[in-house]
This record gives sequence, structure tokens and C-alpha cells, in this order.
Amino acid sequence: MQIYFQKAFVQLSKLERWQWLFVVALLLISLPQELTAQRGTKIRTVVIDPGHGGKDPGAVGRRSKEKDIVLDVALRTGNYIKQNLPDVQVIYTRTKDEFIELHRRAAIANENNADVFISIHCNSVGNARVYGAETFVMGDHRNQANLEVAKLENAAILLEENADDQYGGFDPNSTAAYIALSLYQSTYKSQSIMLAQSIQEQFTKRVGRKDRSVQQAGFLVLYRTTMPSVLVELGFISHSNEEAFLLSEEGKVYMASAIYRAFKSYKQDFERENALPPKLTEEQRAILAPDVAKQELADRKPSAKKPVVAETEEALVFKVQFMTNARQIKVTDKRFSKLSEVEFYEHNGLFKYTSGRFDHLSAAQSHQQLLKQQGYGDAFVVVFKGNERISMEEARGMKTFR
Ligand SMILES: [Zn+2]
Repeated sequence: MQIYFQKAFVQLSKLERWQWLFVVALLLISLPQELTAQRGTKIRTVVIDPGHGGKDPGAVGRRSKEKDIVLDVALRTGNYIKQNLPDVQVIYTRTKDEFIELHRRAAIANENNADVFISIHCNSVGNARVYGAETFVMGDHRNQANLEVAKLENAAILLEENADDQYGGFDPNSTAAYIALSLYQSTYKSQSIMLAQSIQEQFTKRVGRKDRSVQQAGFLVLYRTTMPSVLVELGFISHSNEEAFLLSEEGKVYMASAIYRAFKSYKQDFERENALPPKLTEEQRAILAPDVAKQELADRKPSAKKPVVAETEEALVFKVQFMTNARQIKVTDKRFSKLSEVEFYEHNGLFKYTSGRFDHLSAAQSHQQLLKQQGYGDAFVVVFKGNERISMEEARGMKTFR
């Protein structure tokens, strides 16, 4: 390393002093970020939570109990992940028919520093014609149906012995109790929504289930997790055909493989967008590997400060996405007052909010760190060509990528 720096100095000493300082500054700024970017941006641990168990059967259908179906589907999902994604550790909150308190399920995920939490359930309602699959994220319920789902799932705490202490006297049957839960703002909401969308896409497009889409409500089991978290409702065991499907071998295999594929796709997207180290500039490469880049740099010394941009390719704009919302929020909203250059774009019916506009990836990554420090733990860099969001992979292949 020292030799590289000496060689580089001899070579760079021909440049103006400020250019040398510029290069050093670039290194100082970008190298620590590269280390940061590589840490904690891989999805290594998933906690799979089969709902209910033991004395709590969950929903009860004509032929089935929720606790049995969800345990089976959860174990299969975990097996697919273990078999196909060996770099991921799978942890279950239960692997047999036992009662686990809701707060304990979240604690298992938090204690194991999980990157993703997936709680698996089945639904049930009085109207036997209602069917379909839906995936919830923690949030403010928008309708009575979603509130009812949360009430049913949260009722598990009534079987817990120290529920009053554990949940501050929370009454799962009182609508008023959900007002406090609705104020909850998850740092991981946008990522939870992405995972939930991925699961719904698999359920509907690959398995052909009726799409009840991504929903939100106040679930105690999601309330305390500190990572992207979703609660899957596989279907209604109060609907006889859906119950039969979920009881069948085929149904369990399909639903488990759908959750596995959704997890895999979420993991790939997440890691692609977050984990790649920033591409080194030519100046940085000259320092790290002077023999390779020497001639290249010497050839273009007058323009070293001004990278050549191909006229034919549109310039890229890097932004930091920090929030996804189902409803449109004005960029002048109070909650954005501390953020710079807030903009939004629409994708899949959701409004995605970004801060900052940069022509360098490394500058956007600095801004990402800043947003993380401000509490937007799941902020990540996105890249646009004109008004169109493109993948980081596509951007890296462009001449205008810096
Ligand atoms: Zn349940």
C-alpha cells in the first residue's frame, strides 16, 4: 500500500497541488463509506414466525386450525430458504405446537439481529364468501376490516399471563387502543412494504390466489420488531375452498415457495441497491493501481477535474429514497422540513420520497448516511435517467456513471 502511495505521489506530483488534495479528499470521503456500505447491507438472518400455537389455536375452520397450517407453511418456507440461500440463517419463533407470547416473538427477532421478520397467519371472518391472500405491514388501519384482522391477531395476548405488564394494559378488543398504535412510525416501513408487495405478487401472479393486496394495521407482534417486518395472511379458513387449498399438500407447497421466492427477490433487490461498493473514480484507481491507470490519467491531465460525459447518454441523477407511502404527501410537509430537496415519484401505486440530487454515487451515499443518522434507517440510494428510475446495475453500465 505504501509503495502504491509513493508511486502515486511521484506520478501525481506533476499535477497541480489542489488536484492532489482533491484526490486525497476523495479517498478520505469514499473509502470509509465503502466499508460502511458493505456492513449490514446483506440480508443474513430471517426470523419466520408461525402464528399462535399450543393453547392458542388462532382461527378455527371447519376442518383446520390456523396454528397447524401456519406452522407447516412456515417450516417449508424456512426449508426452501435454507436449501437455496445457504448464506441466510433461518430462525423460527416456534417449530412445534407450543404457545409463544407475542412480545417474545418480536424479541427473538431483535435478539438475533434479524434482517427480516415474517409472521405467517390465516384469516377467518363471519362471511364465508370472503377469500384471498393479503400481507400486512405495521401502520394505521384504513378500514374496519383491517382493524378486525389486527384485533383477532392481537387477541392472543389475552392468553398470556403478564399481558398487562407486557403491553401496558393494551386491550386488543378496544378500538381506542389502536389509536396509540396508529401513531407508530416504523423506520423500516418502506422496506416492509417492498417485501409485502413482493409476497403479494408471488401469491397472485404465481400461485393464482385472489389479491387482497398490501394492507396495514396495528399488530402487537410487528410493533416491537426493529427490522422490516410483515404479517402474511395466507387465506381464509372460513372459506371452504380456501381452507381445502391451505390444507392440501399442493397448497402448502405453493404458498411456502411463494414466500420463499418473494424473500429471495426482496433480498436480491435490497442487496443490489445497497451493498455494492461505490465504483472508484479514475483518480482513485490511479492511486490504488498506478500501473494500470497511469497512462490513462496522463493522457487526460488538463481535464482531470472535468470527467468527459458522452453527449449521447443522458446524465444520471442519484437520490436517497427514505420513505414510501400509500398516500401522497406534499413535499412541503412539516415532517420533511429538515430534509433537503425532497421529491417523490410514483411506482406501483405508491408514492416514494427522495431527498437530494447528486451526479456522483459517492455523494448520494454520504447523504444516505446523513439520513440514516436522522432516523431514516432504511434510506437507500436510487438512480434516475431523466425522470425514469433505473436499476443501479443498469446505471453502472452507462458511460455517464460516476
Ligand atoms: Zn393469526
